[in-house]
Amino acid sequence: MQSLKELYKIGNGPSSSHTMGPKRAVEIFKSKYPDADKFKVILYGSLALTGKGHLTDYIIEETLKGYETEIVFDTNYKCEVHPNTFDIFAIKDNKMIATWRVYSVGGGTFQIENKKEHEVLDVYKEESFGEIKKYCEENNCDLYDYVCKVEGDSINEFLNEVWESMQNTIKKGLKAEGIIHGKLNLDKRAKKLFESKLENEDEVTKQNRLVSAYAYATSEENASGGVIVTAPTCGASGVLPAVLYYMKEKYNINDEKIIKALAVAGVIGNVVKTNASISGAECGCQAEIGTACSMAAAAATYLLNGSIKKIENASEIAMEHHLGLTCDPIYGYVQIPCIERNAIGAMRALESASLAMMLVDDRKISFDVVVETMYETGKDLQSHYRETSEGGLAKKYCRNKYYNIDMKE
Ligand code: SF4
Repeated sequence: MQSLKELYKIGNGPSSSHTMGPKRAVEIFKSKYPDADKFKVILYGSLALTGKGHLTDYIIEETLKGYETEIVFDTNYKCEVHPNTFDIFAIKDNKMIATWRVYSVGGGTFQIENKKEHEVLDVYKEESFGEIKKYCEENNCDLYDYVCKVEGDSINEFLNEVWESMQNTIKKGLKAEGIIHGKLNLDKRAKKLFESKLENEDEVTKQNRLVSAYAYATSEENASGGVIVTAPTCGASGVLPAVLYYMKEKYNINDEKIIKALAVAGVIGNVVKTNASISGAECGCQAEIGTACSMAAAAATYLLNGSIKKIENASEIAMEHHLGLTCDPIYGYVQIPCIERNAIGAMRALESASLAMMLVDDRKISFDVVVETMYETGKDLQSHYRETSEGGLAKKYCRNKYYNIDMKE
């Protein structure tokens, strides 16, 4: 498994695989061939089908500013290796001088075909949650200690930066008003949710309202191209911060403990990233919101002083009930169903943690088994339901005369 620094990335939304990954790859390519007079990029698969809504072309043009740039959306070619594939060419005097095939594999991470030097090396020997649990039992340590033993104490500095960024995004999102860019004309709702305290509001309603408001705050910032932290992706970036922020406020937990919970959540995200996928284009939304929910459930259970077994149970419950969840963003924008889905994911993470704390430690399904199941399920999903905007809500969305908004069909 790779460092948590490869999982949590601070950057601009709205999409880790459609903007962050391509941006980083194009930046490196440009730095290798600064003498080119033109760059051409051909987007395939999900990048071609939803790249407009996800701002892929915009971010590539911005990255290559100063150069002539041609971007082609090829919706016919299907790459067998990964659905988020693009080719980039450097051209000089009308001749191609270099080309890369790039796979944007999710969470802002990319791989270049036949180029080992850009591969990110593993820092953890363990690959499954079962192996990590065994290590912790044998070394009498918890998941946070495990992360520190492998990555060194400097990981705390990094996690502190991540937590600062997450909190800033929530605070900013709670103040934001107006419409999110794009033709859906979607209102920002985090502030309204945060302020809409009901008369005689009971504890459950209050919890749901607040944790949803925090999730909306981050997700709306993401949809607006603001700064977020991939957790594990941009599209699912609202779930974990919402749960951490809520727990911090409710139980008056200090930042030191929250940072440890971030490390615990990171272990869970890393296990999914290593053994399955965190890419909606590869495995549907179960890979993004399902993973985010598992990470948040693990963090919440840790903050409730749950054992490693209870953390595993909470993560497993969270993923199990997202199995089969499709990715069908309308017009390719990371807005509907994405923003609301982050709120539901955050609420479900708290419920999963609560259920795990009440149940006995012994469960029939391990986290590793549910991760494997998620991967197989994702591979069986038709491409319509994997970030292509060709199925589900994206297809069914049609003219609604009552709202008078620009619609499909
Ligand atoms: S539906 Fe889920 S996986 Fe698809 S773009 Fe939205 S958040 Fe990401």
